[in-house]
Amino acid sequence: ASDFPGDDWSRFAPLLKSWEDFYFRRIYIRVQDAFNRPIASKPGSHIDVLERVSDDAQKSMHAPDGSVCRQCLNLGSYNYLGFADDWHVTCARDVMASLQDFSVSTSSARNEYGTTALHRQVETTVARFLGKEDAICLNMGFNTNATTIPSLVGRGDLLISDELNHTSIVNGARASGAAIRVFKHNSIIDLEATLKQAIILGRPRTRRPWNKILVIVEGIYSMEGEYCDLRGVVDVCKKYGAYIYLDEAHSIGATGATGRGCTEFAGVDTADVDILMGTFTKSFGAMGGYVAADRATIQHLRNTCAASSCHNALSPVVCQQVLTAFKVIMGEDGTNIGKQKLQSLRDNSNYFRMRLEEMGLQVLGQYDSPVMPIMLYNPCKIAAFSRECYKRGLAVVVVGFPAVPLLLSRARFCISAGHAREDLDRALAEIDEIAEVLKLRYARSFCG
Ligand code: PMP
Repeated sequence: ASDFPGDDWSRFAPLLKSWEDFYFRRIYIRVQDAFNRPIASKPGSHIDVLERVSDDAQKSMHAPDGSVCRQCLNLGSYNYLGFADDWHVTCARDVMASLQDFSVSTSSARNEYGTTALHRQVETTVARFLGKEDAICLNMGFNTNATTIPSLVGRGDLLISDELNHTSIVNGARASGAAIRVFKHNSIIDLEATLKQAIILGRPRTRRPWNKILVIVEGIYSMEGEYCDLRGVVDVCKKYGAYIYLDEAHSIGATGATGRGCTEFAGVDTADVDILMGTFTKSFGAMGGYVAADRATIQHLRNTCAASSCHNALSPVVCQQVLTAFKVIMGEDGTNIGKQKLQSLRDNSNYFRMRLEEMGLQVLGQYDSPVMPIMLYNPCKIAAFSRECYKRGLAVVVVGFPAVPLLLSRARFCISAGHAREDLDRALAEIDEIAEVLKLRYARSFCG
């Protein structure tokens, strides 16, 4: 049995069952229109959401006759650096050329015939960007966690995971066969207590020492918008000789002075984090994931991880998108577009967060984070919030059970460098009105 809270809850199965029933029968059924809305455009700062889909809509990328589209300000996609907005200027030429040369798919796994020159270029660029010896790129961020973790740890090892880590990490951890302990979200005190206890007690029954201990954390937690206390994690792990695995899905490219992510933001040397993992789905406007580490670890992953040997490789066209985005971010395209994108993302995020706080909403996370959840609490408000936003031309993501506990329902805004200040102001004015109607503000005085 693992230590994941989801498993612990199984002790309360009857209660949980009725919660699930309550949620899925009474609420989810009625909020389905808040999810799976098809779009008919790039995921840029504005998207065309298909309201009524004609039969032809399945066949065409654009909204065909008979479909009704609503243009919305996009506060829901992870288009952090706005590559979806200026794709034709920044990336299109390179990407189209790679499409001519390599076609869409390698039709082969990485360690068969699925490695092109572009894959190796992505890997050397990631390694250079992060100051690591080598890197491996794989076809999905989810797969990267789910298949590299079981290659890194196994029976006799201990995995210590933040309680709010992403499902892909949970899947990888469970598949690894390693023993699992969970520590309180972002609590360095609890992490240290867990490590101390694990070292004193050793393995169950035999009490032999653990082969290795791996601590897994995220750079920015996707449902909380909050940075990991990386400095604290590094100090504690050094003290107890544990390895660190850092998932930078939401922070790579988006945070730190030059986009190098959470290590740069926290002023931590990348040499102090053993395994740096990240995805290309967000800041890079692409898809896929990477792991950067020392040469021996990467070689081990190339040989053993399932995504390297049993899954089709990342598309070469996507590799080219990643390479071009890297060129822009690192300023190697001869412009300062990358720098401007990072600055706009930071400015937009901090402005939006400040204004939401001024409205009296409960905003999770911290400044400099482009992920901004606001608390709705009551799950019935999920549908109301989503519909009100949609009606007013705002595309937002709402989050309910089982992604978060039933009574901690929330809405999440993802800010982009592509958002114009006037658009953000319009969105804030609408959100202000919705907050009034749905009573989302916290009381700021005893009699208020
Ligand atoms: N790790 C984290 C922290 C994530 O939030 C996500 C998805 N948003 C993933 C991994 C999976 O990445 P992808 O969507 O690129 O497969």
